[in-house]
Amino acid sequence: MNLASLNAICPGCRSHFNGVPRRSFFGFQKLPCPHCDETVVYPLTGGYRTFYGVLLCFMVLGLVGSWAQGVAAMPNALAIAAIYALVRNERIRQRVARLEATSPDERVAVRSVVQSQGGES
Ligand SMILES: [Zn+2]
Repeated sequence: MNLASLNAICPGCRSHFNGVPRRSFFGFQKLPCPHCDETVVYPLTGGYRTFYGVLLCFMVLGLVGSWAQGVAAMPNALAIAAIYALVRNERIRQRVARLEATSPDERVAVRSVVQSQGGES
């Protein structure tokens, strides 16, 4: 499945660029920054998020069902992978949102505020 190109912001050098991402093992969108070679990771697309969510639901239901029958079942590797993917996805989404919130103009403003605060000594 081909992914649509996206407007990415590199967390390393803060440059904006457009590229077609590739899927990582867990389905995250990865693309290399053309300016500093850093690999930029973007969140899961909707289909993958739904897939992990549904997977997790079934795992939880299965666990609860086992416990109800008195079986001491543990979450299996698939459930742990789904939790990992969803937690990581949330972190990536927050990071991307933060990067996108700090447009170049705003970052200059923040930096000048920090400098004026630091220069009081
Ligand atoms: Zn970069």
